[in-house]
Amino acid sequence: MNTSTSSSATPSEGKTPPPLPLLRRIAVLATGGTIAGAAADATNTSGYQAGVVGVDQLLGAVPALSGVARIQPEQIASVDSKDMAMPLWTTLAQRINALLASDDIDGVVVTHGTDTLEETAYLLHLTIKSAKPVVLTAAMRPASALSADGPLNLLNAVTVAAHEASRGRGVLVAFNNRIHSARDVVKTSTYAVDAFHSPEIGALGWVQDGRVEFQRSVVRPHTVATEFVIGAKWPHVEIVASYAGVSRITVDALVAAGVRGIVVAGTGNGSIHASMQQALADAVSQGVAVVRSSRVGSGHVMRNGAAADDALGFVSAGSLNPYKARVLLMLALAAGGTGAVALQKVFDTY
Ligand code: ASP
Repeated sequence: MNTSTSSSATPSEGKTPPPLPLLRRIAVLATGGTIAGAAADATNTSGYQAGVVGVDQLLGAVPALSGVARIQPEQIASVDSKDMAMPLWTTLAQRINALLASDDIDGVVVTHGTDTLEETAYLLHLTIKSAKPVVLTAAMRPASALSADGPLNLLNAVTVAAHEASRGRGVLVAFNNRIHSARDVVKTSTYAVDAFHSPEIGALGWVQDGRVEFQRSVVRPHTVATEFVIGAKWPHVEIVASYAGVSRITVDALVAAGVRGIVVAGTGNGSIHASMQQALADAVSQGVAVVRSSRVGSGHVMRNGAAADDALGFVSAGSLNPYKARVLLMLALAAGGTGAVALQKVFDTY
């Protein structure tokens, strides 16, 4: 054996190499949805049952996850997100807060259905009390489909959750390679794989092949900077739409049923048919909070732009769509908010 090489050996040679840095620990909380959906055959992308594939099977379909993070799976629910309900929101938010309070977890990924993902994401954005990343993802095609989009969306979501740059940005949605803010993202297609967009504002950044890049910041307060805490009490808030020939019947029925708030999906700049507007003004006089949003899908509703908010006691939702405006109104009412002036401040803030 030639021993001459040993004389030129570096001091570290022959010693145990330093351990590789440990991968981050990411909790993956599954709630159901099409990402966990299964159909009778692989060509069926619409006639399937959502929420039937368990979290272990979802993770098993993505072996590359083991190179990205240490995963802690948890099955929170198995629902089609069209059936999302507030008790499950309470359970989910409380569980995420508990996990993130522990030093053992560095971030959370939530798998969800696409139908109400934007509502759950915004709810979490306002009630999670941690700067650690929380990332929602979903799929448009069931797990059993040809070219299912769930596995790559899941890998990308975990990649984002495990990335240092994702801290402190509020709740994020990783979908089809883009990273969106929970406040802005909406579902914009009933069938396309590219189903989520942040109208007007655009995505925060992108994730691809393990690389994460953020291109803009979130400005409005979220997570640790909000006044909202998750609770089990949800004030009754409903949504109505204004359209040609609409009557006041729905609004009157909601007031009679004892709602605390009504969000209007108005036409254009949150304008409301005269019949419905009178019913809403009557609702305000009975202590019901009324928020004007728009059914248009992008843009914002200007205060007093289309209706005399000051005179009628209405609140403008700004750039929140009706479904997100309802989430904010429920949280504001649960936190004790009352009156158009105080509620307008909440909508101008968040
Ligand atoms: N109905 C499904 C759900 O929201 C749709 C989906 O996930 O794409 O659970």
